[in-house]
Amino acid sequence: MSDYQFDVAIVGSGPFACFTALLLAEQNMSVGLITPEHSQPLDSFLNSLSACWPTLNDPPTRADVAHGHDVALYLNDFCTQGVHFFKNKFLPLINDSNNWIESKCLRIGLKDFEKEELLVAEKLGFSLIKTPEDGVYLDSTNSILCKDKKIFQDNFIQTLEKNKVQIIQSSAIGLKETQSKCFIDLNNKNKIECEVVVLANGLDIAKLIQRFEKYLIPMSDCLYEYESNRGSDTPPMRPLSFRASNGHICGTFIQNNKNLFLRISGPRFLLPGAGAGINLTQTKIEDKTFKSIEKFHKEIIFPIFAKELGFSSSEEFLNKFEFKITTKKILADCYPCDELPLLGEFGKLGKVLGNTGWLATGFPAGAWAAKIICDLILNEKSSHLLPRLRPRRLQSAFIKKHEDL
Ligand SMILES: Cc1cc2nc3c(=O)[nH]c(=O)nc-3n(C[C@H](O)[C@H](O)[C@H](O)COP(=O)(O)OP(=O)(O)OC[C@H]3O[C@@H](n4cnc5c(N)ncnc54)[C@H](O)[C@@H]3O)c2cc1C
Repeated sequence: MSDYQFDVAIVGSGPFACFTALLLAEQNMSVGLITPEHSQPLDSFLNSLSACWPTLNDPPTRADVAHGHDVALYLNDFCTQGVHFFKNKFLPLINDSNNWIESKCLRIGLKDFEKEELLVAEKLGFSLIKTPEDGVYLDSTNSILCKDKKIFQDNFIQTLEKNKVQIIQSSAIGLKETQSKCFIDLNNKNKIECEVVVLANGLDIAKLIQRFEKYLIPMSDCLYEYESNRGSDTPPMRPLSFRASNGHICGTFIQNNKNLFLRISGPRFLLPGAGAGINLTQTKIEDKTFKSIEKFHKEIIFPIFAKELGFSSSEEFLNKFEFKITTKKILADCYPCDELPLLGEFGKLGKVLGNTGWLATGFPAGAWAAKIICDLILNEKSSHLLPRLRPRRLQSAFIKKHEDL
């Protein structure tokens, strides 16, 4: 006997899970959202830069080589669609629009080969506009930046609850699919019975679907947040977001009255093991690693902020604001399947759906993937899905049941 019965159970509670839950609940589906014990939905969002990037994080030239030009353009556009959908659908729905701010979004090549890569990406039509500065390009769509991540999380959880999404605090440890139903075992010994499972557990997907192990490449990264409360004696400055060094470094700047916030992820390549293929979250990181990251910020990243924010030198910028570190963390997410956001069925019988597009595509892709997954669950097809990514065996008993009601 099951402890819970839902139309759809979603494993995980990151952005993709929460977007999907809300869209399904809006369609009167009963939805269970499974978040690990002692965690809240969108905790993973708090551990990010919280920028909605309008295009692929890594240079789109990479996807071009891996998947061909059409697919690479589709993937790049996937993120842009996601930003629009996030802004126009989710932010009004959760009443959080005032908590986000648009910013120009720069791509910066630091080394010659990175500049070359950006030049090729521009030529291939990847929505980049050359600026007069050497190696600096502007994305043709703005990014949007979250001012207060906790407010976003609170508003989202309230809306999930208002829409009767049931939040269950326990990890999924087992998954079974039969012709008619799916069953999930939870760590607290409870059982869930549902028509469809959506896997949204990111890096941990292989713990439930073993064959994913070989596709997953964990990536570790560092998150730094710097804050200054010395902004009151300066005219308001425009927000800024940039991605540099082929996506190894991301930075955002926001001014909120007298408080200034710089959020930086990277550089990944200074982490032990070059940051690729290793999950460092359980590893003790030596102080000297943090020191070298902070030195890199000072010498390479702060000058970018200073220049783009109109200061004559990095010293002037740093002396004026005396930024203090408020967050310093090593985190991991995943680099699956060579950047391809696989949308489709993962189980044997077509009742387990999911999305893997975690690292390189970020939240906006999660928003757009949620829209597509909902289309698939409700209609078995989505006009926004590249045929190559379409599930082959998605079962329709669930849809019929709803039609009969
Ligand atoms: C330092 C850093 C900064 C980043 N900054 C940005 C940014 O500014 N913009 C951007 O777009 N992207 C950013 N990203 C990438 C972004 O975090 C990911 O792309 C995004 O979180 C993926 O969302 P998701 O919902 O697919 O998965 P996740 O956010 O990874 O969520 C998966 C969830 O599943 C849960 N889970 C795992 N196993 C189970 C289980 N068995 N049962 C129940 N729950 C389970 C996990 O606890 C987790 O909450 C950043 C990443 C890092 C590391």
